[in-house]
This record gives sequence, structure tokens and C-alpha cells, in this order.
Amino acid sequence: MNISITKTTCPKEKPDASTLGFGKIFTDHMFMMDYSREDGWHNARIVPFENLSIHPASTVLHYGSEIFEGLKAYRRADGQVQMFRPIENIRRMNSSAERLCLPQIPEEDALQALTAFVKLEQDWTPSAPNTSLYLRPFMFGNDETLGVHAVHNATFIIIASPVGSYYKEGINPVKIMIEDEDVRAVRGGTGYAKCGGNYAASNRAGERAEQKGYSQVLWLDGVERKYIEEVGAMNVMFKIGDEIVTPMLSGSILPGITRKSCLEVLRKEGYQVSERLISIDELAQAMKDGTLLEAWGCGTAAVISPIGELCYKGVKYTVNEGKIGQVTQYLYDTLTGIQWGNKNDEFGWIYPIQ
Ligand SMILES: *Cc1c(COP(=O)(O)O)cnc(C)c1O
Repeated sequence: MNISITKTTCPKEKPDASTLGFGKIFTDHMFMMDYSREDGWHNARIVPFENLSIHPASTVLHYGSEIFEGLKAYRRADGQVQMFRPIENIRRMNSSAERLCLPQIPEEDALQALTAFVKLEQDWTPSAPNTSLYLRPFMFGNDETLGVHAVHNATFIIIASPVGSYYKEGINPVKIMIEDEDVRAVRGGTGYAKCGGNYAASNRAGERAEQKGYSQVLWLDGVERKYIEEVGAMNVMFKIGDEIVTPMLSGSILPGITRKSCLEVLRKEGYQVSERLISIDELAQAMKDGTLLEAWGCGTAAVISPIGELCYKGVKYTVNEGKIGQVTQYLYDTLTGIQWGNKNDEFGWIYPIQ
């Protein structure tokens, strides 16, 4: 694939690491590529970061044809910039595209786009501890008609944002509200696809939880509101007795790459790990009788997020006295160690930018 590069004539000043936050600052360029039924993917280009101009009837604005990915580039102590399992994100994006009738991108082209873009923007990868360059590939349907049908025209873009350390004052366990009214997704729907629509449907419950002082929502299944699904934009894991349990991929939850990586690390270490149905009743019982020893969320943004409190139907349960547990800490240290290049990458997950 040929990628044309047009460099900006007015590069921005790189921000101070202390001001980064999440997704507020963007780099100088973006990758773009267009799709049409007739021509397939074409016009791959890296151009200066700028506003888009789209037709007011564009599909995405009316019918929500949009998917996205999220991954990071990390700067090692020796200065090298590297990505974490980018091929997994590319495969998941194509699976999301298939679900939403958006065009798929050949894996090698998507990887080439990511690599060329990160290579050009790599000076934007911050070097302060636990900072990174967040990469946001996304795709939307861009037909200029109000007719409802599978997409004939689409646009694929990658933007990048230097992001700060998720945990500024050490890892703080979060408080989670178990949602028993709204649901995020149902089997047969789009739960396993990383699409904007899932987020639009989640906002109301998230907002309600926030008002009550909780940082995120734990979703139950969309049919019976009985089985645990995931937490906000993270997958969820529990240590109940000697067993580490995470909801199985049933079609309504997002197959997280952090989740997959945690399972691979835990299995290698010989932990007893189950991907299975876990009901809210089983979890509530484990909370009551003290066998719920640890709970954590996992996702690219925070990597591992310990859960210190769960609230279900107005009853509050403290997990591990509100402190980070041993397995949670081990996973955090192992994954972040590999990502920032401080630990040997025995799994072959690292993709250095050459
Ligand atoms: C992206 C996402 C996750 C986490 O996936 P990772 O690949 O680990 O970042 C979990 N749940 C939802 C709903 C997501 O959108």
C-alpha cells in the first residue's frame, strides 16, 4: 500500500507531561484512507491534523455506523517506541467492521498504516513514567444519502494523543455500581464490537453512577440481568477463593486484549482460571461470606484497575478492605513491565517501531 505523506508546516509544541490527562491533546498529523464499493480502499495518506468536512447526510451522523480501536505506543527507557499487540486490535477492528457492515482492512495494510503513522509521530510519545501515546483508529460510514443500507463509502482515520499516567497518586481502587436497570448490549447485538453506539447506550447509567459517587458501572446481561458482563470500558475479573473467574465471551461483551493478556499471564503462572458464567447471586454470596478476595477491571487505558467497593441494590460491599490485592498487583506489574520494556517480553507481544 502506498501512503502519501504531507507534513504540517506549523508543528505544535509538545506538552509538559504533567498536563496530559486523557485524550485532550492531539499530535500534528493523522492517517486517513477512503473506501468505496467501486474502488475499495484508496488514497492512503498522512496529512496535518485538522477538522473533517463531511456531508450533513453522512451515514455516521444518522445511523451510527462507527467503530473504533484503542491501543498505545510506549517509550522504553532506552528511547525505543513500541506498540503492544497491535495485530490483536486490527483483528478486532475487522470483526467489529463485519458486524456493522463496514469494510474490512487487510491486516498488513492496517499494520502498515499504524506503523507509518506512529513512526512519523513518535516524538510525541512521552517519556515520563506511565505515560504513553494513545492511538485511536476509527472508521465510519460516509454515504451521502439518508437511505438505509449497508455502507458503500467509508473513511478510516488514525489519530494519536499523548496521555498521562492513569494513576497519579499510586493505584487507587475504584468504587463500582452494579447496574440493574439499563443494559449495555444483548447477545446477537453489537456487544462484542467496539462501536460508538454501545457507548451512547451506556452513558445514562454511567452518569447516574457518577452522581452517586461511583466511578463506573458493572453491567449485567441484557436478557435476565443475572450474569456479570463487564465494567464500563473494561473487562472484569474476580478472585473467589482459589479461582480466578471472568465472564466468558458470550457475544455481548467486548473481547478485551488486556483481558486476553491477563488470562495468558495467569495460566502461565499456574493459576486456576475460569471463563464462565458468573451470576450476580454467586458474586453477592461471595461478598457476604468473604470468599470474594479480589476484583479488578482490565483495559488498555488503565491496564488494571482494582475494585475496592461494589454496590448492588443499595448495599455496599468492600473488597479486600478497599486495597489492591496480590494478584491484581502482580498483573499490573507484569503487563506494565512488558509494555514499557522493563520486563522481558516472553510472550512476544511487543511490536517495536523500526
Ligand atoms: C475497549 C473495551 C474494553 C477493553 O479492551 P482492551 O482491548 O483491553 O483495551 C472492554 N470493554 C469495552 C466495552 C471496551 O470498549
